[in-house]
Amino acid sequence: MPRFPCPTCQRPVEWSDAALWRPFCSERCRLIDLGAWMTEKHAIPGEEISPDGVQPPQDESDDPPRH
Ligand SMILES: [Zn+2]
Repeated sequence: MPRFPCPTCQRPVEWSDAALWRPFCSERCRLIDLGAWMTEKHAIPGEEISPDGVQPPQDESDDPPRH
């Protein structure tokens, strides 16, 4: 039976009728890929969000109130 890598997790998927979620290895991977399409991650290759660029919202935790 031929095997193909799951598009989401690259795990080899056996290409048989038993593979319900092919070309994905599981329903989870299928949904992940579906979600990726919906958020258009596939449409913007190369663009990455750096975790350093994301800053937590600054609330009134550190700054003293200014009045
Ligand atoms: Zn998978």
